[in-house]
Order: sequence, then structure tokens, then C-alpha cells
Amino acid sequence: MARLFITSFILLGLLGLLSNHLTAASRDASLMTETITGPTDNTATISAPTKRQNKTIALTFDDAPRSAVGYFDGPTRAQKLLTALQQAQVNQVAFFAVSKRIDDEGHQRLMTYAKAGHLIANHTHSHPDFNQTSLEQYQNDFNQADKRLSQYPNFRRWFRYPFLREGDTLEKRDGMRKALAQTGYVNAYITVNNYDWYLESLFQQAIKAQQKIDFDALRDLYVNTMMQAVRYYDQMSLQHTERSVAHVLLLHEMDISALFIDDLVSQLRKEGWTIISPIQAYQDPIAQQVTNNLFKFNPGRIGEIAKDNGQRKGLWHTSLEEDYLKQRFEREVIITDAPRPTAN
Ligand SMILES: [Zn+2]
Repeated sequence: MARLFITSFILLGLLGLLSNHLTAASRDASLMTETITGPTDNTATISAPTKRQNKTIALTFDDAPRSAVGYFDGPTRAQKLLTALQQAQVNQVAFFAVSKRIDDEGHQRLMTYAKAGHLIANHTHSHPDFNQTSLEQYQNDFNQADKRLSQYPNFRRWFRYPFLREGDTLEKRDGMRKALAQTGYVNAYITVNNYDWYLESLFQQAIKAQQKIDFDALRDLYVNTMMQAVRYYDQMSLQHTERSVAHVLLLHEMDISALFIDDLVSQLRKEGWTIISPIQAYQDPIAQQVTNNLFKFNPGRIGEIAKDNGQRKGLWHTSLEEDYLKQRFEREVIITDAPRPTAN
């Protein structure tokens, strides 16, 4: 009995080995056929492992010179931001300026950025909401900003729509598209949308209320939620364009950016990203892609492409929800005297 079992096992084992060998042999044979019959220049495609796609991203800061009356004053913010960028070896970013906010100090701030080699571009005169503004008023506002901002060194004819809103009627949208084309401007779109401005407002409120802040936790929350948005819109890019486009990250000229931009850059690099100049980013073919959809609220260029391809949901990521950010901020960043509840 025992001998019979052993013999069967040996036989089964031998059969298994044989079939594995046969499968492997036929696999080799098919590979050989491919190599032999395929086009000669195709050998590399077959044998080389898939090359990791180059992930690139440019940094852009909106609303400069943004109000600075909370944690840092204007000159300190500018200095901190520039130093952080320099230490992170980021050579060129763009500042989208709102010309109405340029007082003496604001002018100094913009000059400081421009002299450091960064780019200055148009984000309107008074930051109007295009959904609430006529085409004529909006164009006037844009022109007023152009007059003032074009005097800065390193000025670019790039227009960043406030709130990313490109017009809620065809007349407004196409009117403004025409105005940009006629004045040699381009739509300086973003691809990675996020709510960094909302985190800043939570931070400023906490400072004002004299709450105790865990700055390490704030840094982690900032980097974590920004990276969520980066990964999300890159995934959407892979899905809808079959590649990782040259990304443009939306940021704002504010205190948490000055505090943590170097940490964000270092996390980006850890995850395989290369920081590029916005000039390079806007050379991507998606710069030429113009949506036919009318967006009352715009998720950014990748979101537009996704919607054009039929995606209806998920154009905004969870990390772009105020409730989500507020809950995390209160739980992770604010230090309370009461002991933290234990997890169960
Ligand atoms: Zn803005």
C-alpha cells in the first residue's frame, strides 16, 4: 500500500515537472519566434523592463502679494519662501499676481520674487469671480492688471483665472478666450487642484484664537493632503492621456507655503517627481487642448480632459473637501490640554 502511494507521488511529481518544462519550453519558443519574426528595432521593447515614466511638476503660487497680517508679515513671508525654494533647489516658479493688492510692501515682495529669477504673471486686478461678473467688467479687470504687471521683470503673458472659473456662459468663456489670444496671452491652467488655501485659513484662525499648534503635525497634514491631490490627478492623467503629463501644481503665496514648501518638494522627489519650470510645463501638448464643455466650477486641465472623456464623478478629490480638512486639522494639529481619546 505504502509503496503504491510513494510510486504515485513520484509519478505525479514527474508529470508535473514535465508539464512545467513543456510550458516553459513553449514560452521560450514563442519568445524566440517573436524575436526572430518581429521588426529588428523591436528587440529592446521586448527584452527591456518597462521604463519608469518621468514624472514632472511645476510650482505656481497664486494671489501674490497675498494678505500677510497673521503669522508672518509680508517681507518675512517672502524671505522664508525664497529661502525654502532655494534650499530645495527649485530654480523657477511662477507668481500669479493680483494687481489691486500691490501697495509699497506688496511691490517690494513681487520685486523680490522677480529678482530671484521667478516669473510674474496675471491673475486679474481685483480677483473677480467670473460667474458673478460680466464679460466687459472682467476684461477691464484683466487689462488693468496687464498694464501694471507687465512692468515687472520676468513678466509672462500668462493668465490664471481666479477660482479657475473660465466663464459660465459661452459668450463669457469664448469672449475671454478671444481676448487672451488677441493680447498674446495663454490660459495658465493648473493640473493639480487642491485646497491649500483652506488649510491656511484654518491655520490663521487658530493663530488668531491663540490656540496651541503642533507645527510638525501641521507640516505632515499639509504634505500629506497635497500629495494625495498630486497622486490623484496624476492617476487621472494616466487614465485619460495614457501618460503622466507635465503637471502644474496650484499653490498660493501664503504662510503655510513659506513654512512647508521645502518639505513638500522633498516628498515629491522621494516619490520620483522632478521639479520643472512652469515654462517647461506649459510646453506639454495638453496646453493646446481646449475643452468644449462649459464649466461653472473648473477642476483644472486634467479634470477638463477627464470630463471631455466622459468622466462625471470624482473630478475633485476628497482632500479638496472643507469638512475633511477641518476635521483632520482639529484632530491632528490643535494641541488641547485634555488627554487625547484612546483609539479602540
Ligand atoms: Zn486666486
